[in-house]
Amino acid sequence: MPEQVRKKLFTVNPRGFCAGVERAIEVVDRLLRQQGTPLYVRKEIVHNKAVVEDFRSRGVIFVNELEEVPHGQTVVFSAHGVSPAVREEAAGRNLTSVDATCPLVTKVHNEVIHHVEAEREMVLIGHAGHDEVLGTMGEAPGRISLVTNIEDVAKLEFEPGQNVAYATQTTLSVDETRGIVQALRERFPNLIEPEKSDICYATQNRQDAVKTLVENGIQHLLVVGSSSSSNSRRLCEVALNLNVPATLIDGPEDIDLSVLKGLSTLGLTAGASAPEHLVQAVVETLAETHWEVEEVVTLEENVKFKLPSNLIDR
Ligand code: SF4
Repeated sequence: MPEQVRKKLFTVNPRGFCAGVERAIEVVDRLLRQQGTPLYVRKEIVHNKAVVEDFRSRGVIFVNELEEVPHGQTVVFSAHGVSPAVREEAAGRNLTSVDATCPLVTKVHNEVIHHVEAEREMVLIGHAGHDEVLGTMGEAPGRISLVTNIEDVAKLEFEPGQNVAYATQTTLSVDETRGIVQALRERFPNLIEPEKSDICYATQNRQDAVKTLVENGIQHLLVVGSSSSSNSRRLCEVALNLNVPATLIDGPEDIDLSVLKGLSTLGLTAGASAPEHLVQAVVETLAETHWEVEEVVTLEENVKFKLPSNLIDR
């Protein structure tokens, strides 16, 4: 019998749920316990299929727009944040709204409001159509320019001498924003920058952890996360940019063993909205084909966010 080749599966920590996702899930969980159904959530509470399906099976109704929510009902705003227009619409429809917006997204909203009020030209670095970007742009409709790549920077048309400030979507890749920020600095030498990067701690830590896995010599990276999850897709990109193939999977059912054939080292991580039980299911499936697990810890996270006050006070 041929000797079994040793196959190492490097799982990495930090991975998976961030403090913003934990908080958003806790908000919906508590509301289900406290008041039961019907309970409405505007958009996916977090960008993960399994999380949304689990809540759906417990009676939560996900809607795209508030007009789908009957008058007087309770609606939760997702972790990605909403524009003031959505809040006003909720109030106008006499809805009880509970805001699960991640505090780090709220911080970006506040930066944008501050710069617009100071009459600065506001640039948002982000991806068109993403829920977070729609919410942030909605803070000052028509007064924020969205930049999605370096080429967009050259297309910005501002009055000469105008002050320019920028903010970024929280879940971009650090490398991706670096190039755009550099282009902005070159075009606008007096560019006003955020005091601290808007890229959130969880995004940064998970991307750094992938880089460590690549340094450890992985030949392929599996990222547990849904295709709608921006930060999960960025984890794949981090590996791809370092010439390591990467695959985004929702769970063990998406593992393509033919892709892993002949490999001896494999990395595994999870996006900030992917539940740990799915990671463990992937580990178990891989163990069946003789992958031996080794955990790589790059740092300990201990960030926690307080629940919305109108939820705690009930
Ligand atoms: S990824 Fe970052 S910004 Fe997004 S919910 Fe998690 S902590 Fe908040």
